[in-house]
Amino acid sequence: MTCIFCKIIEAEIPARVVYDDDSVIAFMDIKPINTGHVLVIPKEHAESLKEVSPAHLESMAAVAQKVAAALRQALSGKCEGINLHLADGKAAGQEVGHVHLHVIPRYAQDGFGLRFPQHYGKIPPEETDSIHKKLRTLLEE
Ligand code: 5GP
Ligand code: ZN
Repeated sequence: MTCIFCKIIEAEIPARVVYDDDSVIAFMDIKPINTGHVLVIPKEHAESLKEVSPAHLESMAAVAQKVAAALRQALSGKCEGINLHLADGKAAGQEVGHVHLHVIPRYAQDGFGLRFPQHYGKIPPEETDSIHKKLRTLLEE
C-alpha cells in the first residue's frame, strides 16, 4: 500500500505544491498550525530519520531554508519566527509514515509550542555525563 505522501509525489492525490525538484517536494499542510505551514518531503519513501539518505535529508534542509525565506516575504514581513520541526516516531508526534520536515510560521502569541516536562531542569548531571560518553564513542566509530 502506497503511503499518502507518496501519493502526493505521484500526483495521485491533490496538494498545494510550492516547490518540486528531483529529490524533494514541498506542499501546504492540509491542517496548518498557522497560515503558511509547509511540509518538505523526500521523493524517496523513507519512514524514519534512520531510513532517509543523508543526501535527501540535506536537500530537505536546503529546501526548508528557501521555503522559510519565501514565507517571510509572502507573509509581508509579519511572520515573527519560523520553526523547523521533524517528528521521528509516534512518541515524537509522527503521524504520517513518510519522513517530513515542517516549516511553521510562528508568532509570539500563537499558542503553539512544546511543553516542558516536570523533570525539566532536574536531570542529574551524571545522566548527561553517561550519555555524553556513550555518544562520543558511538559517533567516533
Ligand atoms: P506529523 O504529525 O506526522 O509530524 O505531521 C503530519 C502532517 O501531515 C500533519 O500536519 C497533517 O496535517 C499533514 N497531512 C496529513 N495528511 C495530509 C494530506 O493528505 N495532505 C496534506 N497536504 N497534508 C497532510
Ligand atoms: Zn511514502
